[in-house]
Amino acid sequence: MESGTIYLVGAGPGSVDLLTLRAARLLGRASLIVHDGLVDPEIFALAGPDARLVSVAKKRARHTLPQEEINALLVREALKGNDVVRLKGGDPFVFGRGGEEAEEARAAGVRVEIVPGISAANGAAAAAQIPLTHRDHASVVSFVAGQCKGLSEQDWSGLAGKGRTLVIYMGVKTAPQIAEKLMADGLAPDVPLAVLENAARREMRVLRGPLAALPDLVIEKKVKSPALIIIGDVTAEVISEGARSAMQMEWETK
Ligand code: SAH
Repeated sequence: MESGTIYLVGAGPGSVDLLTLRAARLLGRASLIVHDGLVDPEIFALAGPDARLVSVAKKRARHTLPQEEINALLVREALKGNDVVRLKGGDPFVFGRGGEEAEEARAAGVRVEIVPGISAANGAAAAAQIPLTHRDHASVVSFVAGQCKGLSEQDWSGLAGKGRTLVIYMGVKTAPQIAEKLMADGLAPDVPLAVLENAARREMRVLRGPLAALPDLVIEKKVKSPALIIIGDVTAEVISEGARSAMQMEWETK
């Protein structure tokens, strides 16, 4: 029997209408949909009537299904002839372990296709009207993981500062270490930043303050995952002030 295809599909930052058409079509015809926890349940309404849905939701430090088992599940099902959609929040190739799953599929001789999604950085920036680049303010943008192994050993020097935007994924828990690390690298304590919680979803919050206030901001405002931290002049009020009046959502300024 011919084996099926594994599709690594980005689901975008949350709302169903930020899914690509290609993703929506694939959801409608996949026999199996393997998804993680950052996917909006409304998206599942797009699944075909006979599709099986399997959750492999991961929470920080609490993996319900280890990555090797997810890889094995995808390959096993594809080898049985099933087309498998592996649905991931945001983009599969931005902190999404899509690379590992694609390698595994190729090693097993299974066809794999990648369907890009709107990564949290893009979704959040759009929703909060914070341009990631701006001819007057930033010509470099970097994405980093705030919760990676050996945070203190990661070299972020030069990624933030004048003319640069730094987007930190998974940085809520480690916010104090992140602020400390960036200031130790020479970043000014008053560099503006924004924390975007549940970005591009109805319950989005945008919190702002200077870098030095990041640890207090996260605690006082009880910031919860998923949230992004965007650091740089593009988050300054003057650039994104239009958003406050344009949107019905919670804006707070430290
Ligand atoms: N592949 C995903 C990232 C997965 S890592 C992507 O491309 O977006 C998970 C992290 O993404 C979260 O800890 C958070 O930092 C960020 N994230 C995902 N969805 C988000 C959202 N709606 N709002 C803010 N941050 C989000």
